[in-house]
Amino acid sequence: MESFLVDLMLMRLGRWLRLMGQDVASPKGCSDEEILQKAINEKRTLLTRDKRLATACLGSGVKCILIKSSRIDEQIKEMAKRGILLRLDPKRCTICNGLLQEVELSHENVASIEPSEKKLWRCSECQKLYWKGSHWRKIKTTLDDIASQMDLAD
Ligand SMILES: [Zn+2]
Repeated sequence: MESFLVDLMLMRLGRWLRLMGQDVASPKGCSDEEILQKAINEKRTLLTRDKRLATACLGSGVKCILIKSSRIDEQIKEMAKRGILLRLDPKRCTICNGLLQEVELSHENVASIEPSEKKLWRCSECQKLYWKGSHWRKIKTTLDDIASQMDLAD
């Protein structure tokens, strides 16, 4: 599966892509050189809105997707047109991109979540817990809306 790297301008898009199960790294440094080097080292496709950085990718042999819109819903559409499925897929931590692991409901983690929830995921890196609560349903509605707008456009 293709993995991605976002630049600092597209961190929000990065979090949305992680919600859809994509492997999306954030840049460590913010210079163009540091971003390009990370993309090369980890064989990631760079997502950027910066034309100059996209041109630099060509020269360095880095795969790059130049995102056109400044609006998050339009940015998600641009990725959907490249084959990213518009569905929630709990695989990656939205904060740190760590892999999520399904965990058992237990006394230590049950207090803060809705009693109806049976499944939990924990980030293997930062330990953040995820579950399908009201936030999850809102995200799913947003993705469904974007998908239906795309169907209308076809
Ligand atoms: Zn995490």
